[in-house]
Amino acid sequence: MAPRYAWRSTTGDRTITTIVKKLIPQWKNGLYPAQQDLIARILDRQAILCCMATGGGKSALFSVPILILREMARNPHLYPDLPTCALPQGIVITPTKGLAANIVLELKKLGIPALAYCHETVTEARMTGRNLAQEIGECKTWNVVCVDPEHLRDKAWRVITAHEVYRTNIVYGCTDEVHLINEWGVDFRPLFKHIGPFFRGRLPSSTSIFALSATLQPGTATKSVLSSLGMLGDNVHVFRSSNERPNTQFIMEPLQHGVEGKIFPQLLDYLNSRRKAVVHCRTIDDVLRVFLYLWKSLPPGPHRLRRLKMYHSLRDAEENEGILRLLDEDAECQVVIATIAFANGLNVKSLLDSISVGFPDTVDQLWQEKGRVGRDIETAARGVVLFQPSALAAAEKQIAGKAEILTEKNCYIAAFNRIYKNPPIETSYLDCISAKRRFPCSLCATRNNITLVFPAPPLLPGIELPLFAAPPAADPLSTLDKKMRLTKKEREQAEAALLEFGRTVHRAERKLPANRNRPKSSYFPASLVRAILDRLLTLDSLAGLEKILTAWVFATAYCVRLYAVVRGLQATISSQREKARLERNAKQRATRQKKKAVYDSELEEEEEREESVEESSSEDEVDHPRSSPVPPPSKRTRRVLEEVTNERPTRTHPPAKKAPRQPLQRASEVSQSYRPAYKPSRRRGPAIE
Ligand SMILES: [Zn+2]
Repeated sequence: MAPRYAWRSTTGDRTITTIVKKLIPQWKNGLYPAQQDLIARILDRQAILCCMATGGGKSALFSVPILILREMARNPHLYPDLPTCALPQGIVITPTKGLAANIVLELKKLGIPALAYCHETVTEARMTGRNLAQEIGECKTWNVVCVDPEHLRDKAWRVITAHEVYRTNIVYGCTDEVHLINEWGVDFRPLFKHIGPFFRGRLPSSTSIFALSATLQPGTATKSVLSSLGMLGDNVHVFRSSNERPNTQFIMEPLQHGVEGKIFPQLLDYLNSRRKAVVHCRTIDDVLRVFLYLWKSLPPGPHRLRRLKMYHSLRDAEENEGILRLLDEDAECQVVIATIAFANGLNVKSLLDSISVGFPDTVDQLWQEKGRVGRDIETAARGVVLFQPSALAAAEKQIAGKAEILTEKNCYIAAFNRIYKNPPIETSYLDCISAKRRFPCSLCATRNNITLVFPAPPLLPGIELPLFAAPPAADPLSTLDKKMRLTKKEREQAEAALLEFGRTVHRAERKLPANRNRPKSSYFPASLVRAILDRLLTLDSLAGLEKILTAWVFATAYCVRLYAVVRGLQATISSQREKARLERNAKQRATRQKKKAVYDSELEEEEEREESVEESSSEDEVDHPRSSPVPPPSKRTRRVLEEVTNERPTRTHPPAKKAPRQPLQRASEVSQSYRPAYKPSRRRGPAIE
């Protein structure tokens, strides 16, 4: 018999409120009205798309329904006749294993047993002889399973979703960070596009399908996600609230040094506030360079290992999880330098500053990065983007997306609000001052001469956090342009000439009484020869050479003559290089012409062959249609076909060289490359954390 009440009713509402109060007393204000309504809809097995700011309470949607149904199953006599099940189950699709681990941890805090179904857990289960598919299907060990789109394709998930017990207990299938279907589903991780078919094809129709994001733009992006998840028609409830972050100052600042360089001095001021910060980088390579720079900018000592952390997908999953924990628990762990693996969904309450080095690929990614800080609404957070000036130049030629933020001249927050159509539109499109925002963005702050101060949190007793200071500039030679450096051969040649010059100095000077006891090596020291060779091609004035010769006793007498030698060497090297360049070009030209000649003769041969085939086939057709002599299969049938359908290829150019075709990646390869291989031994290297 169908239950008497639906969850979206006064009785349902009252029951939800009672159970939440009983099981989660730490939520002093209970659920927000929007959360309450969405949870009732999930319990009524509806389809939902929920776009809500980071920290807005989306995670309650996958925890509270399970808590409620578990409580109802334990104490059925206490509650009215509402739809329920004995062993409630939920699936949460997560893009990264970091997020899966984060969600599992949060669920465990609420007393909900959860599993991250990923490479590590699957391998571990296999090695210990456990049958994960069986265990999940029986619904006895876990209530929620987090899984990435790639692992959904495992055979195990066909077994799980066919299990009778699982089918009667599955409550919801949720996709977290659903904007990634558009962002990653196209080419980076195509299996994002299979989430919808999995939910619709494998789960019972009574399952609530819902999707969550803080940065899904209205319009085309939303439509595309809905259709990918098979959420069509009027049965989908779309809930959208503003994703503005009122406790965060948004700051845009042009990068003064290349994002691919080795120095990032603009970070130091922000980090010297000693607030916990995440530095977002585009690639693992960037992470390493930023880390190295910050490492050098701190005084030596073991405290650097505690203070600076790296978070990226090449690190062990456990180490990455450990960093999230340390950020919250260790007062000395201040800065995490991270890739996009840290951008989506992760929840670290203590982070206050988010600094992006380089403008992120999309506005959604940018807003996700800024969503990592200021999770506690009472705190004052900063979201900084250090953008490349080249990105601004490129943006000025475009109109939408990133360009809209980069080229914004009035108010960044208003621009974000326009992109996400954040309500209430009457105020959200206004600039920070008119809208009375708590923290004006950097545009509004500059225009109105407002300087905000973000104080450092008080240091706990016994804790020392020395200030960052820009490390001494790197050796200028290491930054020398490649063209200005000598090749090995050129260096040998120049060295021989300089040594010969040294010998003439020796011959001329050794006879003087003052030099009688002078060792031979000091007439023209080897260190001097090395210094000249290092800078040989950059020396363009006598003064420049004099700077190198300051410590040489014969500088005054021989400087001009030495400069003449240097100039001579420069001229020789430059003419040699020019000659080599001309030779190289001539060689390339010859190769091109040779290729063209081969191509032309092949084309001619082929045409002749075609003509003869046409003639012979027209003769043979009548007499011997079956035994007609078929020409040997040509390797170049493609071109013959083309000539029927396409224009004749022009003969003037040799065939363009085709780039080697990239092999298609299989799902398993994608997931492999995405996560480090399982390490059976738990033993780690020397503990440096
Ligand atoms: Zn503003």
